[in-house]
Amino acid sequence: MTESRTVHDDLGERFANIKRRIQQSLHHARRSADDVTLIAITKTHPTSIIKEAIALGAADLGENRVQEAEPKIIELGRSKARWHLVGHLQANKARRAVKLFDVIHSLDSIELTQRLNRLCIEEEREKLPVLIQVDLGMETTKSGVSETDLDELVAQVGKCEYLELTGLMTLPPFFDDPEHARPYFRKLASIRNKLADAGSFGNSRGELSMGMTHDFEVAIEEGATMVRIGTAIFGERTAQH
Ligand SMILES: *Cc1c(COP(=O)(O)O)cnc(C)c1O
Repeated sequence: MTESRTVHDDLGERFANIKRRIQQSLHHARRSADDVTLIAITKTHPTSIIKEAIALGAADLGENRVQEAEPKIIELGRSKARWHLVGHLQANKARRAVKLFDVIHSLDSIELTQRLNRLCIEEEREKLPVLIQVDLGMETTKSGVSETDLDELVAQVGKCEYLELTGLMTLPPFFDDPEHARPYFRKLASIRNKLADAGSFGNSRGELSMGMTHDFEVAIEEGATMVRIGTAIFGERTAQH
């Protein structure tokens, strides 16, 4: 190994290592293998590296800003991966999001719900899978619906013919000790269970999109079915996101 060896050279190793850790966490939690979808978060990373990740088998890719994702998705190909929008979606970017993404994890208002449904009709796209982002009472994020307003939002999505509610997402505050994120993950799982019992996700139990580089193992122990991992696969980001 020389000093010029970069994160890029190690991509295959890092990707395999994360997949191994996911399987270990599932095993540890007595859950079935492959019960978690790994979403590789590619924000700030160039298309050359994303292309390598796709070649290594990354099938689910996530970005948090429409304006950054658009040229990348167009260059790499809309059908080369399942594209997940994991960041807050502004109303004026909703049409582009409907055209570019396969799944939206950050649905957080009634207004956005109605707009996305209308845009799906206008853009003649098939049903758009959406997850509602829940703000579990933390000050660090501005996005996400409060638990109090969640039921009303779920009911609204249920009325939208072109949206399919597939799960819930959350983004706990950063803690040095990932154990401190556990109550947030547990809380989201319990909210999800209640909604699932009420039939809010159709025939499915509903996805739990939770866990990032720092805390995904705890999230999997608490039932995560989608983990969103950037840094552990692609290295530290230089730009602030
Ligand atoms: C950046 C980001 C991630 C990935 O974070 P890492 O700590 O790099 O794994 C996950 N989810 C969201 C919403 C993000 O913005």
